[in-house]
Amino acid sequence: MPDAGICAQGRDDILGLPREREPFADPHPRHKLGAMAVDTAAFSEQTDIQRDITEMVRQFADEQIIPNAEHFDHEDSFPEPIVEQMKELGLFGVTIPEEYGGMGLDLTTYAMIVEELSRGWISISGVVNTHFIGSYLLMKFGTDEQKEHFLPKMATGEIRAAFSLSEPEVGSDVQGIKSTAKKGEDGSWELNGQKMWVTNGLGSGVVFVLMKTDPKADPPYKGMTCFITEKEPWVEANEGEFAGLTVPPKIKKMGYKGVESTELVYDGYRCPPDRILGGEEAGVGQGFIQMMDALEVGRVNVAARGVGIAQRALELALRYSQERKTFGKPIAQHQAIQFKLADMATKVEAARLLTRKAARMKDAGERSDLEAGMAKLLASETGKECVEECFRIHGGYGYSKEYEIERLYRDAPLLLIGEGTSEIQRMVIGKKLLQRHKI
Ligand SMILES: Cc1cc2nc3c(=O)[nH]c(=O)nc-3n(C[C@H](O)[C@H](O)[C@H](O)COP(=O)(O)OP(=O)(O)OC[C@H]3O[C@@H](n4cnc5c(N)ncnc54)[C@H](O)[C@@H]3O)c2cc1C
Repeated sequence: MPDAGICAQGRDDILGLPREREPFADPHPRHKLGAMAVDTAAFSEQTDIQRDITEMVRQFADEQIIPNAEHFDHEDSFPEPIVEQMKELGLFGVTIPEEYGGMGLDLTTYAMIVEELSRGWISISGVVNTHFIGSYLLMKFGTDEQKEHFLPKMATGEIRAAFSLSEPEVGSDVQGIKSTAKKGEDGSWELNGQKMWVTNGLGSGVVFVLMKTDPKADPPYKGMTCFITEKEPWVEANEGEFAGLTVPPKIKKMGYKGVESTELVYDGYRCPPDRILGGEEAGVGQGFIQMMDALEVGRVNVAARGVGIAQRALELALRYSQERKTFGKPIAQHQAIQFKLADMATKVEAARLLTRKAARMKDAGERSDLEAGMAKLLASETGKECVEECFRIHGGYGYSKEYEIERLYRDAPLLLIGEGTSEIQRMVIGKKLLQRHKI
């Protein structure tokens, strides 16, 4: 079984990672940091470039993310040094076309990268998650001017993107949002309303935000528009051309620390008409459809995060169960523990396969809303289940902050909620099944 750190020799041409990179903080190697990577099969369905990139990101996770996650999680501080290295690696431009300075890779490869980042720490994948959705929205629906203005700076991570649907009273029922945008006499649009749970809400330089432009529209989704709202990164009260956008203090969370989740208050924020996604003529009234399209790839993204955290839980469980002894033998030799490991490994593989299938269908230009919903449902639930089993295998030590599983236990539940809860995924799957199999 190969160990986690795979030699980067010969691969620095792909992601620009120096061959020898010292961790920026002393990782204080302790028993809890040592978990083995699990190579479940010699068979690989990856292309050469996918294998090279995922091995590179895995090495990055092993050397830079995992040893430092505890510090940033404990402090609940933004993992700036890790993010700076991600910029160097080009990880903010994975799916952005080469003509705009990105890598131009497909969703499948992106999902593989996200899995590796999330195996390290899901907060790190959270930093790129909303950015990825923002760049997808631009690539698919943006005007040429919008693409040229934003994508090159997004590919390098110079500006990072957030996306915002949710409000204090609305999450699942997106058509129920109350925030509005109204066209003024000078041609600009005035945005008013309160948004909730905006990941990267403070550090982002651009927020793709959904507003009601025709509150009387029937059905409501026809009166919704996506605005590309620019702001000053890390500034709570924006001024000048971005006046009217305030970011209240970040929401305190049980896990998913490091990456900030905030409210956004739009109070008379002026948005020029050319900052309507797709342009004013084509974009007004299209916001809901655009956002739902983006959520389809977003669900593959969250599914990959579920696979990553489940994979890490499996690795920790395999390690700990062979070290800890009860009744005269390692607990891994008790059949009850082996069954847990077997179930975990089986579920991880199934979730990974379904996630990659949904990604490949999307890359092939096929409709994949059903598969993306299934992948998100299975992988997020698998993430939670594997983390819980790993926690149980750790016995009392799983409850101690000395062990990595304690962080995973606080992080995993987010994936059951973000980008549509498990109940909403089941609604999507059920509806699509009946549409496809109508008698
Ligand atoms: C850490 C974090 C980060 C987030 N980041 C973002 C972000 O960047 N951008 C963004 O826009 N949003 C973000 N969200 C918001 C997230 O998308 C919502 O929390 C999620 O969609 C659920 O909405 P809600 O919390 O309002 O729950 P509700 O919609 O109020 O649902 C409450 C419960 O009722 C269930 N339910 C709702 N409707 C039905 C139904 N019809 N049938 C059966 N059960 C139902 C739900 O499954 C859930 O169990 C984030 C949330 C969190 C916690």
